[in-house]
Amino acid sequence: MLIHVTTFSAANVGAVIKEVTCEKCAARFVYEMIRRGTGSGTAIYGIGSDSQTAANEAAEALNRFLVDGEDLVACPQCGWFQESMIAKNATRYWYWSPWGVGNRLNPNTTMPTKRGHFPGTPTAVLLDAHNNTVPTMFQRPPDIEPDNVLSIRMFQNEFPPICICCGQPATTTVDLEPQAGINPAISVPACSSCAEAKAKRLRRLKMKLFAMFFSLPLVGLLTLGIMTFVSEENDGGTLLSMTFMLLLAALICGVLAHFFGNSSKDKHMPLKIVRMDWETLICRVRFDDLQCLARVRDHIGTLPLSKNILEYIAASQPC
Ligand SMILES: [Zn+2]
Ligand SMILES: [Zn+2]
Repeated sequence: MLIHVTTFSAANVGAVIKEVTCEKCAARFVYEMIRRGTGSGTAIYGIGSDSQTAANEAAEALNRFLVDGEDLVACPQCGWFQESMIAKNATRYWYWSPWGVGNRLNPNTTMPTKRGHFPGTPTAVLLDAHNNTVPTMFQRPPDIEPDNVLSIRMFQNEFPPICICCGQPATTTVDLEPQAGINPAISVPACSSCAEAKAKRLRRLKMKLFAMFFSLPLVGLLTLGIMTFVSEENDGGTLLSMTFMLLLAALICGVLAHFFGNSSKDKHMPLKIVRMDWETLICRVRFDDLQCLARVRDHIGTLPLSKNILEYIAASQPC
């Protein structure tokens, strides 16, 4: 029996303003938390659930994340991380942080000597800043992590509108290398000539892949042919020629793997996505080009905080 099953999937991205009163110094501050919720529905013969179920599930998941979740955000006044934040993020794995690598990190153990931020977490803004300091209105530029990695929250235009390859004004976008677990693809700004060059490289790579798949059966046929020839002539040389054939096959595969490996790395791209957390939209990007890293990092520092959080801050200032 053939059962026709269709799976639908949906994703929603949303943001919420979280207001916190610091349990250590009583300062009030806000940050904007971003989450992505996904849902899937499965229909058998088109009966049962459908794409609407997927959409509903995604909306429910997003709502749950936004209501229950908290980000690990330091109090902008004293640097303390609220205990509830630490508890709710205990299972989150950090590939780098000022307090080490792993999960169940407790940044408060180094208080007050060490202050810092977890990578990709939002900028916190003090409410009722009575003293004459102007509250931050821009996003905090990300820390530069080992191996020139930046953790970027992919929510608005975090990448500057300039080509990531050459720095010229961007007219289009290019998809970054597809990675396991990174789906849908992430695109970044590029100029048309760099985008065209990338497309050309991709076409060449596909041709090489094609050639590799066809050369493997060829090697097999060649081996078979020579073995037949050898066994007809004399049996004494069989072992020797089999060894020779194996070496030849290994050599051919090695050469192909070399070409394939080289082109698939796409050395011309100045950055690579190392990891993507789809729940928080925190993307770890490794830069091979330090100028590109500096441009992206500086750009993030000029991005204003979202309209929502700015309005929230304006509304809660004492008059
Ligand atoms: Zn505090
Ligand atoms: Zn370019």
